[in-house]
Amino acid sequence: MTCEHIKHAHPVAPRASGCEECLKSGGTWVHLRLCLECGHVGCCDSSPNRHATRHHHETRHPVVVSFEPGERWAWCYVDEEGAAAPKEALKFMRE
Ligand SMILES: [Zn+2]
Ligand SMILES: [Zn+2]
Ligand SMILES: [Zn+2]
Repeated sequence: MTCEHIKHAHPVAPRASGCEECLKSGGTWVHLRLCLECGHVGCCDSSPNRHATRHHHETRHPVVVSFEPGERWAWCYVDEEGAAAPKEALKFMRE
């Protein structure tokens, strides 16, 4: 594993319970991703607006974790690498 971002990710409280941009615009999403840098909640690449990926392009924040109940993985956009999310990074997750 080459990614250092996921290894050093810290827990962050989510800023919203749904995709922030979609909630504002009335859009819909399929799945949610949580940015481990700032707590941004955005929608996944299967959603029409792909706000999680767009957030990465705008901010360069490297790591998201799945914000879906029961899912425990992280994705690094910089290294394009997935991994199990570090336990500490998930302390704000819904069960
Ligand atoms: Zn990385
Ligand atoms: Zn969205
Ligand atoms: Zn962010």
